[in-house]
Amino acid sequence: MTCTIRIENLTKTFKGHDGGTTTAVDQVSIEIEPGELFFLLGPSGCGKTTLLRMIAGFIDPSQGRIYFNDREVTTTPANKRNTGMVFQSYALWPHMTVADNVAFGLKIRNLTKTEQKKRVGEALESVQMTPYADRKPTQLSGGQQQRVALARALVIKPDVLLLDEPLSNLDAKLRNELRNEIRRSCKEAGITTVYVTHDQKEAMSIADRLAILRAGRVEQVASPADGYYRPHNRFVAEFLGETNIIEGSAHERDGGFLVETPFGSLPLPHRDASVGDRVMISVRPESWRIVGLDHGAAIRGTVRSTVFLGESTHVEAEVDGRIILAMVHGRRGLTAVPAVGAPIALTTDADEIAIIDQ
Ligand code: ADP
Ligand code: MG
Repeated sequence: MTCTIRIENLTKTFKGHDGGTTTAVDQVSIEIEPGELFFLLGPSGCGKTTLLRMIAGFIDPSQGRIYFNDREVTTTPANKRNTGMVFQSYALWPHMTVADNVAFGLKIRNLTKTEQKKRVGEALESVQMTPYADRKPTQLSGGQQQRVALARALVIKPDVLLLDEPLSNLDAKLRNELRNEIRRSCKEAGITTVYVTHDQKEAMSIADRLAILRAGRVEQVASPADGYYRPHNRFVAEFLGETNIIEGSAHERDGGFLVETPFGSLPLPHRDASVGDRVMISVRPESWRIVGLDHGAAIRGTVRSTVFLGESTHVEAEVDGRIILAMVHGRRGLTAVPAVGAPIALTTDADEIAIIDQ
């Protein structure tokens, strides 16, 4: 079954030992589409796990509602929601073989032995663990254990798959490999998936859409590209990657729309501001172009440092007493960047610029 997850005004308040309260999740409303791979992304403590566990049914909300399609599940017990869950810690049973771990959910659902065998075979195949069916979890690497945990969640054909920091215990290379496999498995099975992480690269690389959370609230829901290039506010802009925040005021000059600052001007997307507005903009380091010092729509400063990293060169320019970070890709970094101490002018295109809220 394909499943829409609708979350309305969901709030969770915890009472502390000292009598104080923590609002871990604060009036969250999200609609997740059937078959979507949706991320909850934010720093540690922002309420991701609490929100996920309310969707799973392990935590009762203080307020608000959760729907799977048209069925309200706000207070439905976890084992009646048909969700599969994968944790950071794998949570495999150490005394059972891989095959038995995966079969467990089918056993308690009273499937026949033949059906169990078939489904376990398919699930292990889908995570490329068929040769390890008879091993114990302790005889597997971390990545293999997490594959088994994924197979165990998928084998019950859940309506909703929930993953809480599933790759946090693995090394970088394996994380990259496994995240692509997780996406492939979810998409092949067509399961609506909610994936929690604090790692913006992990989220951006495989998400259909992501919700960026701060202190229990949703700051923005967007596709990875829109979140990155069209952040609504400073928190989202900075959380999704390196960026440069610049303030100025919107002006019209020679039919062009610009943001003017004491150290130069830059083109501005016209639709997003009116003449005279104070604006704050976010420009990604890789969006800059180095131009001639007489360029009419550029900011000017002095090269403070350059670092050659192979595929790119990082340039720090001191502009009006602060640092602007620029990135030049490829070999051009060796020739296009002025020497340390020399003046530099930087510009970009209007559609590379996002006007943001504080
Ligand atoms: P995340 O998964 O984003 O790191 P959590 O959902 O685990 O965040 O926690 C969000 C906030 O709620 C934190 O401030 C955390 O300390 C608090 N919190 C989580 N669970 C409990 C609990 N059972 N009792 C009290 N406070 C909790
Ligand atoms: Mg967590």
